[in-house]
Amino acid sequence: PVMTGYFSSPFPRRVSVAVPVGSVKVGGNNPVVVQSMTNTDTADIDATVAQVAALHKAGSEIVRITVDRDESAAAVPHIRERLERLGMDVPLVGDFHYIGHKLLSDHPACAEALAKYRINPGNVGFKDKKDKQFADIIELAIRYDKPVRIGVNWGSLDQELLTRLMDENQRSLRPMGADDVTREAIVQSALLSAELAEEIGLPRERIILSAKVSRVQDLIAVYTMLAQRSNHALHLGLTEAGMGTKGIVASSASMGILLQQGIGDTIRISLTPEPGGDRTREVQVSQELLQTMGFRQFVPIVAACPGCGRTTSTVFQELAQKIQADIRKNMPVWREKYPGVEDLKVAVMGCIVNGPGESKHADIGISLPGTGETPSAPVFIDGQKATTLRGPNIASDFERMVADYIEA
Ligand code: SF4
Repeated sequence: PVMTGYFSSPFPRRVSVAVPVGSVKVGGNNPVVVQSMTNTDTADIDATVAQVAALHKAGSEIVRITVDRDESAAAVPHIRERLERLGMDVPLVGDFHYIGHKLLSDHPACAEALAKYRINPGNVGFKDKKDKQFADIIELAIRYDKPVRIGVNWGSLDQELLTRLMDENQRSLRPMGADDVTREAIVQSALLSAELAEEIGLPRERIILSAKVSRVQDLIAVYTMLAQRSNHALHLGLTEAGMGTKGIVASSASMGILLQQGIGDTIRISLTPEPGGDRTREVQVSQELLQTMGFRQFVPIVAACPGCGRTTSTVFQELAQKIQADIRKNMPVWREKYPGVEDLKVAVMGCIVNGPGESKHADIGISLPGTGETPSAPVFIDGQKATTLRGPNIASDFERMVADYIEA
């Protein structure tokens, strides 16, 4: 079946098996889910609750937390409870490495409180059913009826599998390049682990796969292979994407190409925050990516021109920024109060060259005066000229008109 769901790409969405993660469904015909991860010490309950709440408020529909030792496993049920008291039904995913099987079996309240377990086959081992650690964690997932994400990461790729594939490649008549062998090992690691989990008894409706790498072309290649070779729900993410613009561009380029082809059921954009920087930035970037591509709508769009020599003041950039910031700030309340507000389009333009045209295409738009133009600003509402603002308070008058429009 071709699924068009929330997709406006010309490519059909890849058909995957839907997996419930708490109250959120990942895969199937469900919209692509935005998720993120905390960087607090999970044992610090106050800090972790605060960060999960901030990420969720910013739009993270699922939040992953590190569970690396007894203290953090013991903290998980308290974190869950505190979030519930705040009225936040955000599914928490436990990120486990090396000793997840032990932590989950020693801390049943943690196993129960989490909505999903993330395991890394590169560091729990997955050779065969006798491999206790992998089997144990899958059995715990079955017992608590929780989904797992089998998250392969090329930085901790199963070395035994890689070595075997390298040897086989060397003996083959047409050997592949080393990069291709590594990509194959990443894909096989995910698929073999999923196969083993199903053999142990975890249904496909409880398995999500990811295969994170740090290079754009590798990411596109491994996810394309995974998509061709399975119908598991896929979590997309470029690992170690980096800081600032580099991380945003690399993540958007790679994930944009995959999403455009209908590949990917949930995304996380991993940005290295600046020291003291805002962790919620990665959530905003994920939302922007999905919204820009037309797959989901989270916040009203503010269209603004880049400005040029026809604008001598910065009034319109400041106004565009202020409106964008106000909208983001008010969204949690507006979403409840004004259903559909996320579909709103506002235009803030620098002069009459493109201003009136763009404003007419928006729900509400303003064309500020450029150099040499009369100091007046026509405002368009629903495609019609509504009024012309003049004087020193054009910006604040327009802000009020936007608020009135939303309310109306
Ligand atoms: Fe320049 Fe006017 Fe175009 Fe904005 S709308 S970029 S100010 S010409």
